[in-house]
Amino acid sequence: MAEVDRTEKITINLGLVDLGLIDLLVEEGFYSNRTDFIRAAIRRQLDSRAATVDDTVQRRALRALKRRNVTVLEDSCAEITASQVVLTRGTRVACDAAVIALGAFAPPWLRDTGLALDERGFVATGPTLQSSSHPEVFAAGDVSTRTHEPHPKSGVYAVRAGAPLALNLRRFLAGGPLEPWRPQSRALNLLACGERYAIASWGGWSAEGAWVWRWKDRIDRDFVRLHSL
Ligand SMILES: Cc1cc2nc3c(=O)[nH]c(=O)nc-3n(C[C@H](O)[C@H](O)[C@H](O)COP(=O)(O)OP(=O)(O)OC[C@H]3O[C@@H](n4cnc5c(N)ncnc54)[C@H](O)[C@@H]3O)c2cc1C
Repeated sequence: MAEVDRTEKITINLGLVDLGLIDLLVEEGFYSNRTDFIRAAIRRQLDSRAATVDDTVQRRALRALKRRNVTVLEDSCAEITASQVVLTRGTRVACDAAVIALGAFAPPWLRDTGLALDERGFVATGPTLQSSSHPEVFAAGDVSTRTHEPHPKSGVYAVRAGAPLALNLRRFLAGGPLEPWRPQSRALNLLACGERYAIASWGGWSAEGAWVWRWKDRIDRDFVRLHSL
């Protein structure tokens, strides 16, 4: 990993006209000063490259699968029989045991509860984890979506919602003011690839190797130790 020089100076090649335009935007109140404009411009550039970053992680994962002789078929699965997996375009793949890994999905019974749901059927909540339609109902973790600021459905966010949820439940019962929950905007993703090898990604950065696996292993073991009785 490259060392980050904390005193690194960056030269930005701006002409007088560019500076004039920036100053105009500052005067009009869009930015508080020139630095604020430059920071916002860099951040926006990073946001616009987010898909490329995701692709980079996907390419790393596909390379890791290829190294382990795993063939990826991008077609969806239409049917699983006793001896085959049938794909939507008709291909039949011989299969002894199918392992199914799904993303999060909302329990269908939520539709009958009368609670406000998001477009995928998860409980819609506000910043205090209260249902958007029923303030006496609280929801956190995969089953809910903070509709004003959705975050990925993953264990990282589900675990961290626990403490604010407990706090707000207690305050609600005691009639006290509730605290909005502001989760982190990014999470570290560590993907184990087998054979003590893993891929890491954090915002715009990604890396892979045996050292990433050791890092993941240490985090996982510490987490389990923390919750062991
Ligand atoms: C294979 C796999 C790998 C994953 N790996 C990662 C990872 O590496 N990192 C990460 O951050 N996240 C990972 N996730 C996602 C993570 O597991 C979930 O985001 C997290 O468990 C969500 O926590 P939760 O408490 O909201 O829901 P859950 O963990 O799903 O807990 C909900 C509980 O409610 C119970 N329940 C459901 N319906 C009812 C009912 N009607 N009555 C009573 N009980 C009910 C369920 O049985 C379950 O015990 C993974 C998920 C899967 C499936």
